Parts: sequence; C-alpha cells; structure tokens
Amino acid sequence: MIIITIPIFYIGDSLEMNTTEKKTIGKMIHLYCKDKHGTSHALCSSCAELNNYAQRKLTKCIFGEDKPTCQNCKVHCYSSEMRERIKEIMKYSGPRMLLHNPILATKHLIKGLRSPKKAYPRKHDSYSSKDNNLK
Ligand SMILES: [Zn+2]
Repeated sequence: MIIITIPIFYIGDSLEMNTTEKKTIGKMIHLYCKDKHGTSHALCSSCAELNNYAQRKLTKCIFGEDKPTCQNCKVHCYSSEMRERIKEIMKYSGPRMLLHNPILATKHLIKGLRSPKKAYPRKHDSYSSKDNNLK
C-alpha cells in the first residue's frame, strides 16, 4: 500500500502549483469566516465556494510558479463578484495574517515587492475562455 501511494503523492505534489499562495488564501478565508460568520473549523458554504474558486484559479494561473501576488497581477482572472468578495477578505485578513501566520504573511509580502513586470505568462493558450466560466 505504502509503495503504491508514495509515488502518487509525489507526482501530485510536483504538479501542484502555487502551494504557498493556496495556503495563504485558505488561511485568510478561514480567518475571515471564523470572525465574520462565526464558524469554527469548517467554512460556511459561501466561503467554501469562494475558497474552491480561489484554489482553482491558482491551479490554473497562467503565470505558474512565477506569478506575482494577485494584487500586483495585470490579469484579472476573477469574476467581478468574486473579486469584490476576495478583496473584502484580504482587507480584513491581510493585516491579521501577520499575527496569526507570520511566516506565510511575510512570504506573501516579500513576493508582493517583486516587480510585476518581471512576470510573464508562460502559456497564453492555457488561459482559455473556458477559465472564464468558473463562476
Ligand atoms: Zn463564511
């Protein structure tokens, strides 16, 4: 069993993109949901939906591992409704992340200092109109 599962996890891990960003956004949504919606461990359905959406967007991000922070990104891949919701969460959870998860927050801040000009989309064709249907 162990022999079979390890390679699968290994492959899955190497294909996984933007793991730090995914963790950061997940924590931010959890923090927001806990404080604003009174949840404890699980997210409320609305925040769970937003979290899934954000995770999918990170997996499909055309910048791959070279992505700038979403704040600095010129590609607006979120629908306007989701963008408003995530902005609200970042405004609330961003400063609090420094207290709750200083390591993740610092990584995110350092990345945010990088010039967005240095990041180029790797594959234009991977950003198809299909992605815009993820609403
Ligand atoms: Zn919530």
